Amino acid sequence: MVQVNADYLKLKAGYLFPEISRRIQDFNSKNHNADLIRLGIGDVTEPLPLACREAMKRAIEEMGTESGFRGYGPEQGYLWLRESISKNDYLSRGCEISADEIFVSDGSKCDSSNILDILGKNNKIAVTDPVYPVYVDTNVMTGRTGEANANGEYLGLNYIPINSENNFEAQIPKEKFDLIYLCFPNNPTGAVATKEQLTSWVEYAKNNNALILFDAAYEAFIKDDSLPHSIYEIEGAKDCAIEFRSFSKNAGFTGTRCAFTVIPKSLKGKAGQEEVDLWSLWNRRQSTKFNGVSYIVQRGAEAVYSKEGQIQIEKLVGFYMDNAQIIKENLTSAGFEVFGANNAPYAWIKTPEKMSSWDFFDFLLEKANVVGTPGSGFGAAGEGYFRLSAFNSRANVEKAMQRIVEL
Ligand SMILES: *Cc1c(COP(=O)(O)O)cnc(C)c1O
Repeated sequence: MVQVNADYLKLKAGYLFPEISRRIQDFNSKNHNADLIRLGIGDVTEPLPLACREAMKRAIEEMGTESGFRGYGPEQGYLWLRESISKNDYLSRGCEISADEIFVSDGSKCDSSNILDILGKNNKIAVTDPVYPVYVDTNVMTGRTGEANANGEYLGLNYIPINSENNFEAQIPKEKFDLIYLCFPNNPTGAVATKEQLTSWVEYAKNNNALILFDAAYEAFIKDDSLPHSIYEIEGAKDCAIEFRSFSKNAGFTGTRCAFTVIPKSLKGKAGQEEVDLWSLWNRRQSTKFNGVSYIVQRGAEAVYSKEGQIQIEKLVGFYMDNAQIIKENLTSAGFEVFGANNAPYAWIKTPEKMSSWDFFDFLLEKANVVGTPGSGFGAAGEGYFRLSAFNSRANVEKAMQRIVEL
């Protein structure tokens, strides 16, 4: 019989979102007419921006002509999109990131997983706790961890707590790690990293020859002008950081699929005593395993940077951030302790009266018919917290808040 990858068996059985679905189903079977409002899963809800739709329609028409038809595109993405990204997301903020350091892909979720393909098996790895579960699970699947303990912490992974005691700042470790995952603005806590904090991280990485994997999927939600949108705004980051970005949250591309990863040419790793540049390995990996994002979708992504596109995505992001503000204000006035939600579409709520995250989930589901996400699903340090997302219609957010406030 064929052997399976037994590392998959180490994954915790009750993964977060299936367990949420199970509890919702259970609730629905007992309460047939309940009007549930879902502020749980981090998916956007508003329609695609017009500029993106128009660009995609034009691209489809082009594909229907002899001269405009395109087959396989470059594995790295079309140069016009990469140049647009370089100019608008990086050069405009003083980051010297060139088009050929940008790799277009069909998602940050897969890029942040696939990156492990080009990294060794014996790196000492650190993640924050709570954390986006993808970083942890992909390390488990690829055999980079041992088994999980009762709290769900994996042997061989190192956890950097971010919680109210440290003001949701990822503290610089005393230990030496080789690979560190950071995500700011943070999913799930909505916390942000200041320029000073990221500077300390870059210094740490340079002093320890470490690599930072920086997930900036939520940079568009930053309202505070003093906060960095990219890790490359920090001097020296080009020598120690890879950045992941996505059109999923800023432009509503969760169902359309387009993202990109920045691998500076100056980034180095080691194979034995030999120095190797990571750019070449990633380029080789993408060329072999990936055949690019569709022309149509890349034209849609390019339109994000047009004048109309910029206005439309600003409005889109603003809409969700107004939701976040409504959530924060209502819950705060109802006596909850609420973190995040100022520069991120997530409110991170301390559960009242030391309730566990899952008890609070059941409580909100039954008493307010509102679905959120238990903090403990994002890691042991998320216990006692609860995530509400701003991705919903205004009417639903207002109704959900009214119900919670009236409890
Ligand atoms: C939504 C999200 C992404 C984006 O993933 P895509 O695969 O590009 O849709 C990346 N990182 C985090 C932390 C996210 O929440």
